[in-house]
Amino acid sequence: MTFTTANRSLTPVGMFTGSYINGRWIPPVEGAVHLVVDPADGSVLAEIADTTVDECMAAVDAAQDALTSWSSTPSRSRSEVLRCAFSLMTKERDAIAELIVRENGKLLADALGEVDYAAEFFRWFAEEAVRIGGDFRVAPNGDKRIVVTRQPIGVAVLITPWNFPAAMGTRKIGPALAAGCTIVLKPASETPLTATYLVDLLERAGVPPGVVNCVTPAEPGPAVSAMLHHPAVRKLSFTGSTEVGRILLHEAADHVVSTSMELGGNAPFLVLDDADLREAVEGAMVAKMRNGGAACTAANRFYVHRSVVEEFARLLTAQMQVLTPGPGGDQTSGVGAMVSVEERDKIAKLVDGAVAEGAEIRTGGRRPNGPGAFYPPTVLAGVAHGQAITRMEVFGPVAPIITFDEDDEAIDWANDTDMGLIAYVYSSDLARAVRTAERLESGMVAINRGVASDPAAPFGGMKQSGLGREGSDAGIEEFLERKYLAMPL
Ligand code: NAP
Repeated sequence: MTFTTANRSLTPVGMFTGSYINGRWIPPVEGAVHLVVDPADGSVLAEIADTTVDECMAAVDAAQDALTSWSSTPSRSRSEVLRCAFSLMTKERDAIAELIVRENGKLLADALGEVDYAAEFFRWFAEEAVRIGGDFRVAPNGDKRIVVTRQPIGVAVLITPWNFPAAMGTRKIGPALAAGCTIVLKPASETPLTATYLVDLLERAGVPPGVVNCVTPAEPGPAVSAMLHHPAVRKLSFTGSTEVGRILLHEAADHVVSTSMELGGNAPFLVLDDADLREAVEGAMVAKMRNGGAACTAANRFYVHRSVVEEFARLLTAQMQVLTPGPGGDQTSGVGAMVSVEERDKIAKLVDGAVAEGAEIRTGGRRPNGPGAFYPPTVLAGVAHGQAITRMEVFGPVAPIITFDEDDEAIDWANDTDMGLIAYVYSSDLARAVRTAERLESGMVAINRGVASDPAAPFGGMKQSGLGREGSDAGIEEFLERKYLAMPL
């Protein structure tokens, strides 16, 4: 891979490891770094800067200073910068995907898919930037004109998780910049290199100094708290676990900072008695195995009608058991590494717990020996609704199958969770599938499909899966504030 190297601190994999503040890379200071590890073999990829709290505050100051100029830049110009970022990302697809594989562990095919999906957010929001609208009406009592405009909300802090290091960034950066906001990005500590690559790419696309800043504190709590108490910060857009989201909602309350929250999932996958089983298994493989199961949208609980459950389990097992865990860049691997040994061990613990509670392993279920954070594709049959594995987000290649008898029972069980991000329904009767979907308490439902995500669609959850939506026209709204001008007639 070749990168622009002037004034930048590069690692063996060719990536920027400093904090990016006001258009300058601040190289890591010796001793004040944290390690980025390749989860496939445990090797160290990079030493990334441990951005101090003072530097995080300087990043917010820079974003504040750049706000007036960026928010008054014509939307056509902001749009063109994002369009250029889309083109660069598309051109550099292979290099970015390789980087994602190295620091996240996922399969190269998944990483390439992620880069395409991620780039689309730059293109989509380049198009949305020039369509920010307003409203006009005459007051019903006839005493004034009501004019409503939309303004950028201000400086935004964006916090992203490790599972989609590119897409979770662009899904926030795209609408923020399109709206005219300036940002401080804080990526996950496991996968900061993809984020710093994106920041460099945005600079090359023409983003002026101070508009995009990126910080990588080793301890996110104090640094993010300080930023959320900086008076200039008006927006927090967070993607990650519900547990951390809850902490940040408390933090944001002190200065009444607007929040958008994309949080955890616990997606049910319903296979009704009339489903086309081959299609259902094909969809299940996508819904379960995309990203090695490490997706907030991953099917977490398979509710399958008693009349088809054995056949479904047999077909799913046949497809899962041929996927061999291995390094994400290796063509023969059927599932990549989990992001870390700790994450892999959490998955193993959930499976062991399910087996202790009576689940039957149809394939997988055993942690491999040797280096690397691998876990085999696993099918568990005979799981009872309510067992721990149906209550927790597994975030790995594990498919627990629960048998149901009545549709109402499956719907009740599907809704029996604090989460409500996405659900999947398979039925040959579209009207029945739609009626079922309407009763499911989730922000998104995929009908006879294993994937729903699309930059043009509103992505987000109900209940404790989140607040607000990303993508579509809703995504930019999260970074805009309405202003009402009361005008004389
Ligand atoms: P996480 O532990 O909540 O971390 C997410 C981000 O928050 C990381 O950047 C992390 O930084 C930061 N963070 C952690 N503790 C913090 C604190 N006290 N204050 C401020 N920031 C803090 O989540 P994860 O393990 O990276 O990601 C997996 C979770 O994300 C899953 O629950 C998944 O469902 C959810 N997710 C949801 C969506 C969605 O759209 N709904 C999409 C993807 C993932 P460090 O890395 O430095 O700890």
